[in-house]
Parts: sequence; C-alpha cells; structure tokens
Amino acid sequence: MTTNRSLPILAPAAKPTDRLGRPLRDLRISVTDRCNFRCIYCMPREVFGPGFEFLGRSELLTFEEVARLARIFAGLGVVKLRITGGEPLLRRDIEELVRMLAATPEIEELTMTTNGSLLAPKARMLREAGLDRITVSLDALDDAVFRAMSDVPIPVARVLEGIEAAGEAGLGPVKVNMVVKRGVNEDQIVPLARHFRGSGHILRFIEFMDVGTTNGWRLDDVVPAREIRERLEACGGLEALRPNYPGEVATRYRWADGGGELGIIHSVSHPFCSSCTRARLTANGELYTCLFGARGHDLRALLRSDADDATVAGAIRAIWAARTDRYSELRSEATEGLARVEMSRIGG
Ligand code: SAM
Ligand code: SF4
Ligand code: SF4
Repeated sequence: MTTNRSLPILAPAAKPTDRLGRPLRDLRISVTDRCNFRCIYCMPREVFGPGFEFLGRSELLTFEEVARLARIFAGLGVVKLRITGGEPLLRRDIEELVRMLAATPEIEELTMTTNGSLLAPKARMLREAGLDRITVSLDALDDAVFRAMSDVPIPVARVLEGIEAAGEAGLGPVKVNMVVKRGVNEDQIVPLARHFRGSGHILRFIEFMDVGTTNGWRLDDVVPAREIRERLEACGGLEALRPNYPGEVATRYRWADGGGELGIIHSVSHPFCSSCTRARLTANGELYTCLFGARGHDLRALLRSDADDATVAGAIRAIWAARTDRYSELRSEATEGLARVEMSRIGG
C-alpha cells in the first residue's frame, strides 16, 4: 500500500473551553422572536404591543444557514441542540429544520421548547422529522391564572392536549416548565404537581428571572426553590435524585410513593454558572454566550460573506475562548441597570 506522505496529518481541532474552563456543549437556537402569547414575565403587552417591531423575514437566518451553523458548532463540541423562540411552532415548516438538524453528525439530543398551544397537531410530524424530546411551558392549571400569566385567551386545555399528543408521539417524557411568580401563580404549584404526578411527564419549577429589562423583575417576586420544595413536601414525600449529567440545571426529585420525577430550576437562589456550557443563537444570527448578555456577536454577516466553515468556526472558537460570563453568580447591585437581551429574542 502506498501513502501520500506529502499530505499533512491534521489533528482534529481542539474543542474550545472558555476563560473559566467551561466547554461548549449546548446550543439553543431561536427561530423567531414572535409569539402568540404575551407572558407577563417575558413579553409584557405594554412593550410587545401592536407597534413593536419584530424581525423581518430577510433578517431571519434561513434553515440552511441554521443547519450550517449547527454543523460548525457540532465540530466545536456541541452535542445538544434546542430549538426555541419566541414561539418556535410559529415558524413555517419548522419540521424541515428539525429534519436538517437531526441529520447533524455528533448531535446526541435534539429538543424544542414551546408554549404548547400549537403542538397537538404537529407533535407526530416533529417526532417523525427527528425531534428527540420536547419541553412545554405551562404556568397554571386554572384557566384564569393561566391567562393572568400568558395574557392571551387560550385555554389551558390546548396546552394539556399538546403535552398528551407529544407523549403519544414518542417525544416524552415531556418536561413541563412552570415559571413561578409570587402573588400571580404560586397557588398553582401544588395543583400542577398533583396533575402531573404519575403521568410520566416531568414537571419543573423555574424561579422567575431578571432576563431582559421589560418584565419589571423584583427579587420579591421570586418564589425561591426552598419554598417551592416545602410546598411540594406538604403533599407528599420527596427524595433527591442525582443529576443526569454534570451541569444539569434542574435539581431532581422523585415522589417517594413512586409518582414520578420533578425538578426545580434555581437560577436565582443557587446559580449554576460554573457548569454553564450553553451558547445561544438569536433568530437573526447573533451569538450570545450568556442569557443575560448585553450584546451578541453577529454570525449572520459572516455566513452571508464568502467565509468558509473553518473561518466561521475560528470566529466562534475565539468568542467562546474569551467568555467570562457568570451573571447569575454576580447578580447584585453590580448587575442592576445593565443592558440585557430580551428572553423572547434569545430563547431561554
Ligand atoms: N415560547 C416558548 C415557551 O414559552 O416555551 C419558548 C421560548 S421561552 C422564552 C423559553 C422559556 O423561558 C419558557 O419556559 C419560559 O417560561 C421561560 N422564561 C421566559 N421568561 C422567563 C423569566 N423571566 N424567568 C424565568 N423563565 C422565563
Ligand atoms: Fe412567548 Fe414563551 Fe415568552 Fe411566553 S415565555 S411570551 S410563550 S416566548
Ligand atoms: Fe450561564 Fe449566564 Fe445563566 Fe450563568 S447567568 S448560568 S453563565 S447563561
């Protein structure tokens, strides 16, 4: 056998780590900044009203551009992709993007976060296109409280149907995310826990976060993880579970009587920046290295230039290598009043 010794042997490029030693493992891809809900903690109607200027079609990354970026990110160490928004199911032909992303080598898990209102008729199609699992946001079981959070006249039943359809389509166990806001939906912690006990779905409680600058966040509005756990314990014994993987954002519990799993995401009371391996891409192609970033890095301009994949990869590598973000650990007067990207743009 002859070998061509003149060709250099290329070692696979090292995967980048940031300035705090954190690798790049997850990419959250927002596919739209629009939404059919106006959750008071995310897109308050006073700000996101009829006059609000959303991104135009030509500003959005095309599916081909997203898929190309996903391949490049996978080459840099990303093994998990999450499609989000705004509301990702509003993006036309989203299952096509799912199909393209599912074909990315190295990706171990492709998921989506949705408000669930458009999910029931699409769940099977998404599964067939290659979506592995789904997270559905649901803040109350009671219609009036649900509406006080979502600020739209959509009944809870629509979201519950979406969750069931996703389970039947093989997208389960469905993670159901409840953002808890003091004085608005805290009385729904126990009803939701009872509803999903024994269902096979995993309910996760999220502390209300100071993302963006429009939701009027105050520390007093946060129901801390400890209090959420105490309320749950009043309706049954809980046992702590080990994390599924290092850096998992939810603290996991199970009902002692075998009723299944629950989680609490305590980003405010116990930040987890030291294990944060997530990058976020906005629908117009800006890369953020923190949920609380003030500014993104424009990858779209690079994609629409004649830059080859190695050049784009080099730019992302440099951005990640320079990363020092740990906003939640620093959260204090030092971070008050700082500019921050809105959740509906960055995708949670
Ligand atoms: N529209 C989809 C949905 O609601 O699932 C996807 C995008 S949404 C921005 C992603 C997640 O962020 C949702 O689970 C939502 O509840 C959460 N979220 C939005 N604003 C938040 C806040 N201020 N604090 C905590 N979680 C928030
Ligand atoms: Fe829309 Fe999701 Fe934000 Fe609610 S949390 S307004 S559903 S993007
Ligand atoms: Fe990651 Fe930023 Fe959240 Fe910390 S504050 S966990 S660095 S996204």
